[in-house]
Amino acid sequence: MRSELVVLGGGPGGYAAAFLAADLGIQVTLVNAESRLGGVCLLRGCIPSKALLHVAKVMSEARELAAWGIEFPPPSINLDALRAAKNGVIETLTGGLDQLAKRRNVQVLHARGRFTGSQELRLEPLGGQAGQADQLSFEHCILAVGSSPVIPPPLRIDSRRVTDSTGALELNDIPERLLVVGGGYIGLEMGSVYAELGTRVTVVELTDGLLPGVDRDLVRPLAARLAKRFDRILLNTKVGKLAERGNLIEATLESPGGEATQETFDRVLVAVGRRPNSAGLGLETTQAKIDARGFVVVDQKQRTADPHLLAIGDVAGEPMLAHKATHEGKVAVEGLSGGPAEFDARAIPAVVFTDPEIAWAGLTEADAKRGGRHITVARYPWAANGRAQSLHRTDGLTKLLIESGTDRVLGAGIVGSGAGDMIAEVVLAIEMGCTVRDLTESIHPHPTLGETIPAAGEVHLGLATEIYRPKRKPATA
Ligand code: NAD
Repeated sequence: MRSELVVLGGGPGGYAAAFLAADLGIQVTLVNAESRLGGVCLLRGCIPSKALLHVAKVMSEARELAAWGIEFPPPSINLDALRAAKNGVIETLTGGLDQLAKRRNVQVLHARGRFTGSQELRLEPLGGQAGQADQLSFEHCILAVGSSPVIPPPLRIDSRRVTDSTGALELNDIPERLLVVGGGYIGLEMGSVYAELGTRVTVVELTDGLLPGVDRDLVRPLAARLAKRFDRILLNTKVGKLAERGNLIEATLESPGGEATQETFDRVLVAVGRRPNSAGLGLETTQAKIDARGFVVVDQKQRTADPHLLAIGDVAGEPMLAHKATHEGKVAVEGLSGGPAEFDARAIPAVVFTDPEIAWAGLTEADAKRGGRHITVARYPWAANGRAQSLHRTDGLTKLLIESGTDRVLGAGIVGSGAGDMIAEVVLAIEMGCTVRDLTESIHPHPTLGETIPAAGEVHLGLATEIYRPKRKPATA
């Protein structure tokens, strides 16, 4: 078999690349090592977790209506129906991808591809399927094989009670006590789901705060809310070992002083990071280079060191986020079809879909400090926003990072209900090189949470009317 372009991997990077290539008249084969398209994001990541987080949010909002005089009886949970509803979302979307591939004449092969040279893949049938391996040759191949959860050896035990995010999303049961190892994206999102379903959740985080690396101003309101939702949040604590004890898992919790204590849980979710899927692909038979962390090295056009290979998404570097993969896929294909596209983003937004959500884009205060950049930070507390008050969700904050001298918006961080949807406006502002005045002079609808973005700009300009932060008068002699 031969194809002009092979895309290896059917996630949001891979299918976007394959579909765009087909639309641009390139003959494409999409090789996917699973029976369905969609990748981790659609099949066992972003989409199913968001479906469950939606349910969790509605449940907590219903409970919180008690403060408004509306009380519901405690919810009864039909886990089979909930699981079916979540799986239904996946089926709808993956079915849509099959249709889109068909309409574009993208050939989809469900097989595991392994390079046997720079222009050749050996296609091995998926587990359990009979059949001989085929060879597929190509002019170019876009590698979009994603990443997998890391489970460090001391936590890797053969027990169905210890899972990664995939297992947690299967929703097999609602455990009484769940240990979440890692207070990062996955730990907090999935911990929130199980806590709302009635599980007593303990989160153990190695560093001194949840979501290490994320702006503390943004983490604070989330940590305060989670402290009420979770049984315990143990910081500066390492889960050093797991062992099965009858129907329970015994975890060894190590404090910085070196003391170790043992505690038992019904289930354990290990969410301590992901690693790129660059091993075992036969990449050593090509000229592509892999860095010390396992990422395939690419240039701004997503080209590897091998003239026939490009790489996109999680396997091609941080941040490991679906929207970065999709964007890179489009850059790779436009480059292949002779376009001038390069990956040159000023802002890649990141969202933690907890309640409240945390979203940020562009420069962070830590980046500014590291790079010695002169910025001012404007903060707008949501308590001053009418919509936040009417939603009873004043635990939000919108902040802008503004370049001194030019007043250009370089970064933004938002914590609050719906922050993930709001951040897109600031991404556009950063990409367009907008100044604070561009934001404040664009009329925003009232009453909305989106008003907090220009309002933060007004704080910077000393023009905020809904809070008292007048611009200081210049000192007189
Ligand atoms: P993460 O890197 O976000 O968090 C892992 C956490 O585990 C860190 O805080 C780390 O300090 C801690 N840790 C490591 N070893 C530990 C130990 N032995 N004991 C206790 N704590 C330990 O990783 P993740 O949550 O697994 O997510 C992986 C990646 O998946 C993310 O970086 C992100 O790229 C992606 N993701 C994104 C989203 C989203 O966009 N909303 C959601 C889920 C996952």
